[in-house]
Amino acid sequence: MFILSEDTERTRGDDAQSSNISAGKAVSESVRTTLGPRGMDKMLVSDDGDVVITNDGATILDEMDIEHPAAQMLVEVAETQEEEVGDGTTTASILAGELLSQAESLLEEDVHPTTIVEGYHEAAQIAQSTIDDAVIATDPDDDQLLQVAASSMTGKGTGDLAAEDLARTVVDAVSQVSTEDGVDRSAITVHTQVGATSSATELVEGVIIDEERLSEEMPRSVEDAQIAIVEDDLEIKEANVDAEYQVSNVDQLNAAIEAETGQLQEYAEALAATNADVVFVDGDIDDRLTADLVGHGLLVFEDVDSDDIESIRAATGASRVGSVDAIEDEDLGSAENVSVEKYGEEELIFVEGGAASKAVTVFARGSTDHVVDELERSLTDALDVVTAAVDAGGVVAGAGAIEIEIADRIRDEAAGIEGRKQLAVEAYADAVDVLPRTLAENTGMDPIDALVDLRAEHDSGATAGLISEGQTGIIADPIDHGVLDPAAVKHEAIESATEASTMIVRIDDVIASN
Ligand code: ADP
Ligand code: MG
Repeated sequence: MFILSEDTERTRGDDAQSSNISAGKAVSESVRTTLGPRGMDKMLVSDDGDVVITNDGATILDEMDIEHPAAQMLVEVAETQEEEVGDGTTTASILAGELLSQAESLLEEDVHPTTIVEGYHEAAQIAQSTIDDAVIATDPDDDQLLQVAASSMTGKGTGDLAAEDLARTVVDAVSQVSTEDGVDRSAITVHTQVGATSSATELVEGVIIDEERLSEEMPRSVEDAQIAIVEDDLEIKEANVDAEYQVSNVDQLNAAIEAETGQLQEYAEALAATNADVVFVDGDIDDRLTADLVGHGLLVFEDVDSDDIESIRAATGASRVGSVDAIEDEDLGSAENVSVEKYGEEELIFVEGGAASKAVTVFARGSTDHVVDELERSLTDALDVVTAAVDAGGVVAGAGAIEIEIADRIRDEAAGIEGRKQLAVEAYADAVDVLPRTLAENTGMDPIDALVDLRAEHDSGATAGLISEGQTGIIADPIDHGVLDPAAVKHEAIESATEASTMIVRIDDVIASN
């Protein structure tokens, strides 16, 4: 009996498993060379010719047009990792791929999928507690946060010279929005602007708005600004659409024009009568009004988009008012300074020292679009990891140190696990080894020697990692070298990689309707 339509493609059993596993491995293989400070970048060209150059795992996988459903699950691993903790996307995808590869060997040895899944979950638990035991608490005033920011940005094409300053900017941004209740990450925005080197990146204590002044004759800078937000068009309001002037002579025409001008002047006068110095209008402003507004010394913006209105509101405390007549003193927001800066052809508005919030903006500079885009991604990652380090409990030694520790601990505990599940738990440990091995490869070290030496150091009780220095790598203590990753990033990588790989292993029937 046929219950499926003729177009349905069905793959079952071993075939389904091996096709899914190969697809997952292929995805993880595609990001391997980008791991770590000596990782390479990828250039992704879309079918309409857009180019993205990046080292960020989540971005690479997002830009690649991945169709295979199992491969898609690995893309989701990177996405979840990015959403939850903002970094470690390459780590999580590589681990998921290697877990699949190990599972493939286990399946060949006739280990049942459910045994693999159980073993993997047990091993993942051991991994999580190893991370907990290895956590170094972060002190907000400590250099550790700078190191966390710097380790997250190394290898991201930001250049070593700029890296230190960028790390400083990131840590300053996070500390500006930190309170006893934690970090208000949503109060930090990254604004990019092409035209200078990344070392010109700076922290702005306020928000940056991409809008033009209504007229070049308006002030470029207003100190102690009182700010109004108007959600209205400052234009002639037509009583009804059919209204038409019946004009039969010049006097009548003049009268009609005067009536309009009068109505427009009322807008300007109503605005001038308030205490506002700076006015953001979401609608259009009649051109004939510009001169009056200039005459009243106001700084006015029209067509301000709703996101910008929202940031101005949040930063300055101004309320949205539906018409200029309705503006009361309590509707006004305030800021220490509103200034207009010219960048090339564009103007940007800096609203600094807003009364209502501590919103800050990392003003990211770079020489070309590709550079600022990648800089924005690495700054965003760094902001997330520093937030995670402050908020979600500490950091661990990076550069492969925590992974060696995890793998060793899993192997130790595997000895006490009965039956075939032991094989699965051991396989998990072998999979974790892929991370230090890949770091070694990308640093140009011999991966086998590097892992043997790393293990020997660990067995002697030291914390050791593969620190990349100049053109090669050395085995040394990552804590001394300031290579630290947030514990939250490692926790999430273990969780998401385990979840995706076990989900794929459990599938033995793929039913695809075409
Ligand atoms: P991910 O997307 O997983 O964050 P990255 O390319 O950012 O991938 O690489 C992260 C890894 O690189 C982490 O394991 C981190 O500890 C390691 N790392 C960062 N800086 C250094 C360094 N200077 N030397 C060696 N390893 C480093
Ligand atoms: Mg990273």
